[in-house]
Amino acid sequence: MATATARGAIEAAEYPTRMFIDGSWCDALDGKTLRVINPADESVLAEVAYGTRTEADRAIAAAERAFPAWRALSVYDRAKILKQTAELMRARADKIARALTQEQGKPLTEARLEVLHAADTFEWFAEEGKRSYGRIIPPMKVAKRHYAIKHPVGVVGTITPWNFPAALPSRKIAPALAVGCTVVSRPAEQTPLTLILIFECLADAGIPPGVANLVIGPARPIADAFFEHPSIRKISFTGSTEVGKELIRRSADQVKRLSLELGGHAPLIVFPDADVHQVAQAAVIGKFRNNGQVCIAPSRFYVHEKISKDFTDAAVELARSLKIGNGLEPGVQVGPMFEARALEKTSALIEDARTKGGKVLTGGGRSKRFDRGYWFEPTVIREVNGEMKLMTEEPFAPVMPLLDFDKLDDVIAAANNTPYGLAAYVFTNDLTVATRMAEGLEAGVIGINDPVPATPQCPFGGMKESGMGRELGSEGLDAYLETKFVSVGLRQ
Ligand code: NAP
Repeated sequence: MATATARGAIEAAEYPTRMFIDGSWCDALDGKTLRVINPADESVLAEVAYGTRTEADRAIAAAERAFPAWRALSVYDRAKILKQTAELMRARADKIARALTQEQGKPLTEARLEVLHAADTFEWFAEEGKRSYGRIIPPMKVAKRHYAIKHPVGVVGTITPWNFPAALPSRKIAPALAVGCTVVSRPAEQTPLTLILIFECLADAGIPPGVANLVIGPARPIADAFFEHPSIRKISFTGSTEVGKELIRRSADQVKRLSLELGGHAPLIVFPDADVHQVAQAAVIGKFRNNGQVCIAPSRFYVHEKISKDFTDAAVELARSLKIGNGLEPGVQVGPMFEARALEKTSALIEDARTKGGKVLTGGGRSKRFDRGYWFEPTVIREVNGEMKLMTEEPFAPVMPLLDFDKLDDVIAAANNTPYGLAAYVFTNDLTVATRMAEGLEAGVIGINDPVPATPQCPFGGMKESGMGRELGSEGLDAYLETKFVSVGLRQ
């Protein structure tokens, strides 16, 4: 957990540490800073400027002032800046990825892929902004003409978590800027460095003052500013379902528009015609990527009983063979968990499963191989039942619970038996089975023989308590647009 200090901001040798408000890099007005901790060894990585409501108010006022001119620019001119941002992110991918690994823990190769995905997101929305078409609608009366035109919502506040500190803010900032909105972004306070480096790319690409602002500080007062300022017309949030529900309640006062990307509990279902070893490999990669701290991570594995033993053996062997270590070391596949709290929560989930009959086949506890940092052994567990917290709460942990199934309808019912509906995975080569599963599963993202389905040009988001609205794809652009109906009466 990062800690705030009362000393003046320190410019770290390796990374920039300031907020970006109204086109200037700045410290907190009261000089407060926040320590960013490396989860691999608990060392202090940097001390960043740590603002609060005052800085959020300044940023919102700047974004409000900047909105008319930014909106009035041609979409082609806005796109040029966003595409240049993407180019700079690619050119600086090594440095940004290194910061991401150090502050978040994931292996450098994964961090680099995330930064490149974020750059692709900027480029894709730069182009898609040019296609925010309206409609001409045939009138019922001959002397009328009807049009639907698109209009940027206004100033947007974004709040994002620590697990994908490059990808998640980019999914909000890029489409909002592309259509002419201005933004105030707040990263998770534990992982601010990645977004500071992305803001450097925006600044170097020539984003005008006030159009994109970065405020680092405690969640609550900054969220208060977002909810209380009438000029913030939309809040785009990624995080837990619990906080998402709180935001829905708070949005009522000003009927604040919300996009919510919330928690998940994804089933991964393997049918007997699938190649067991290939699927076990895909399942283990999908599960232990970022230590399972991924909203779309598979977290309940339903394997057809005909192949269950082979799949279990393969998954256990693969999980045991994963290389754990500091994400900066070459070949590392699994880094530390993000914080001490995550270790405690994971241990408690496994203890709960054990007391309810769960059988741990590998892992099951903190890794003893490291003196410092937050390490947990990749864990595979069987004899799982619906009473276990593992099955009812979003685990967000490197734990793979295996269950058997027999019939397609039963597995659809089991998979859907959760308030979550973010992602689901199916492995089969049978087109009929694949189609029935895609149609029957209650999830906003479905991977058929694909363990990593997110990509900038396709819609991403959850059903049920996993969220409201979609990011990415043309839907991700619509999230920052209002539809205005114009009706024209002609002279008779
Ligand atoms: P979280 O506690 O809900 O926090 C998410 C963000 O909201 C953080 O920036 C946090 O700030 C801030 N926050 C916390 N309390 C707040 C409040 N009362 N008002 C406004 N903002 C508040 O979630 P997390 O545990 O950090 O992140 C993991 C969760 O995010 C998981 O549930 C995961 O599934 C979900 N997630 C969803 C997606 C998706 O696309 N659907 C993607 C990634 C993650 P601080 O961290 O500074 O407290």
